[in-house]
Amino acid sequence: MAEISSREVRLKQWPKGVPEGKDFEIVEVSIGKPGDGEVLVRNIFMSVDPYMRGRLRPGKSYVSSFEIGKVLSGGGIGQIDRSNNRSIEEGSLVLAGKGFRDYFVSDGSDLTVIDPGSLPPSAYLGILGMPGLTAYVGLLEIGKPEIGNTVYVSAAARAVGSAGCQIAKIEGCRVVGSAGSDDKVRWLLEEAGIDAAFNYKSFKNLSRELRRQSPAGIDVYFDNVGGHHLEAAIANMNDFGRVVVCGMISHYNDETPRPGPSNLFQIISKRIRIQGFIVSDHPLLAAPFETDMKTWIGDGRLKWEETIIDGLDHAIDALIGLFGGRNTGKMVVRIASAS
Ligand code: NDP
Repeated sequence: MAEISSREVRLKQWPKGVPEGKDFEIVEVSIGKPGDGEVLVRNIFMSVDPYMRGRLRPGKSYVSSFEIGKVLSGGGIGQIDRSNNRSIEEGSLVLAGKGFRDYFVSDGSDLTVIDPGSLPPSAYLGILGMPGLTAYVGLLEIGKPEIGNTVYVSAAARAVGSAGCQIAKIEGCRVVGSAGSDDKVRWLLEEAGIDAAFNYKSFKNLSRELRRQSPAGIDVYFDNVGGHHLEAAIANMNDFGRVVVCGMISHYNDETPRPGPSNLFQIISKRIRIQGFIVSDHPLLAAPFETDMKTWIGDGRLKWEETIIDGLDHAIDALIGLFGGRNTGKMVVRIASAS
């Protein structure tokens, strides 16, 4: 077998503010060939996610920074092109953390063989993958909603938010969602079937609109955005409400720290519990999550969408697009077709 050449996306310099194409480069490299016990994986899909912005700056966070001059990484679905490993068959689909490249060689220890059944393999990057599990953990384990509670979800038409909204509906809650376009609001009401939704860009006073959409107050706020959304939610929380701090995407491109919500005293007066979480701390929930998700998707209670961008050349456009609201549901990049 000849040496394999593969394109990879590398970081050229730390982005300032919203990442730009000039911060990255695509380079063609030789990756050798699989040895004894190894497999050659051809990437089919890769994920772009908001947490990657945190990796595009030096310094310590809960995931390590990318390195200048080195290939980026992230969730990907590949197909085994060549196998010298008896436990992994050629043609199998695998989940790995090696996005942003065409091919890679593995000894199999960093691969999970997947069986998407009737769903497309890319579902394992979204609704059946890390974003879906994030919604499941955040809502059920941290938010602990009760039947009849009002649950508010921001960035609600997105990978995490859309799953969070619908799981809350399945749990018997009244669900309010906010999103950044009228089309997304329509999707939330007509497809996801939540109770109320609004386009946050149409309202200067977010808190007043939230009060109108949730007249009985909010019991659980699933925060994907932070900033004004968090302040408006705190203003509308009921006593003993829970704020699930999942993400703060409105801050990710800030170069300097922003002032916090002005109404933090209400945490005391309303006895609010605010708790952050990281999905990777909850591996034991992965199995029940996959079973529940497949059941809910199968019986039509959970709808999901993805935005597919074609070509490794456009992976960075897709990543940048997350911060401009370009996606409905999960944003994935198709690198090649499965055979
Ligand atoms: P997506 O990548 O699917 O979508 C991001 C969306 O956020 C955008 O499309 C946009 O939607 C919205 N957005 C972007 N900028 C702003 C802004 N300035 N103000 C308000 N909304 C904005 O996101 P995910 O669903 O994958 O992730 C959602 C959140 O969950 C993120 O904050 C992410 O970091 C977090 N997360 C946390 C995890 C954890 O373990 N704690 C794990 C995975 C994700 P719109 O058009 O509606 O504005």
